[in-house]
Amino acid sequence: MNIQLKTQTSSAARPLIGKVSLVTGSTSGIGLGIARALAEAGSAVVLNGFGLATEIATTKDQIAADYGVKVSYSTADMSRPEAIAEMIAATLAEHGRLDVLVNNAGIQYVAPLDQFPVDKWDAILSINLSSAFHTMRLALPAMRQNRFGRIINIASAHGLVASPFKAAYVAAKHGIVGLTKVAALETAELGITCNAICPGYVYTPLVEAQIDGQAKAHGISRAQVIHDVLLAQQPNKRFATVEELGALTVFLASDAAGSITGAALPVDGGWTAH
Ligand code: NAD
Repeated sequence: MNIQLKTQTSSAARPLIGKVSLVTGSTSGIGLGIARALAEAGSAVVLNGFGLATEIATTKDQIAADYGVKVSYSTADMSRPEAIAEMIAATLAEHGRLDVLVNNAGIQYVAPLDQFPVDKWDAILSINLSSAFHTMRLALPAMRQNRFGRIINIASAHGLVASPFKAAYVAAKHGIVGLTKVAALETAELGITCNAICPGYVYTPLVEAQIDGQAKAHGISRAQVIHDVLLAQQPNKRFATVEELGALTVFLASDAAGSITGAALPVDGGWTAH
């Protein structure tokens, strides 16, 4: 009796044992938090993103040791479709399957529309939007074959509402919410779900990089930027956390979320309820 109870507890706590997850942009911030949460839930994990090779190797070993799962790493640049193809092929070759695809890699640039650098527009559209098209088109055949798949796109509150000076980011994030809906409709009968998570502000290196720029642009202090600019729209007046996003990702990847598809789920402290 006790043994049975213990087994039930551990499979409930680790609902993703036997699954393989790929998280783009997972060497930092939200992606790293999500990769950890998926590993904690029992999934093997493929990391991706930029950074110091030594630090990435340490992160990889740490996740494997902490959660007893297989962890691999792809250097693929999400702005290069051929590198994305190699990453998906290598994942399938090494792990034999791909169950959970988290499109998270993203960059930001802030400038008025008529001064927005064309190269920044192109980079944001390719990394924040087109990369997800490529990972999805390449992962779907294997998911179809397994009649199981979970695609989770890390969009943003900016996938649902706009802010000034973020033309490329808002366009890309609205685009990924639309792409999510199309994928959900095309896969609805196949055991595959596709959802978008729309975080408000989360304190990560991507947000840290905006604080000094915004302080200069508005002529105010860092503390004022955080309270009066970044969290101005976020009614709960605190950053969302990577742990909250990891927990939602694990839930969406689990069997319990099998009927949730095509949704864009805000994790924004009420921002988009305005
Ligand atoms: P971050 O800068 O901490 O991490 C970004 C990750 O993407 C890193 O691992 C980086 O190496 C990787 N990356 C960047 N360019 C890449 C490329 N060309 N190829 C492969 N990997 C690349 O940022 P974050 O705040 O963790 O953001 C992650 C995602 O969450 C992004 O899509 C972002 O738009 C979204 N998001 C963030 C917030 C926030 O407040 N931080 C809010 C809403 C949505």
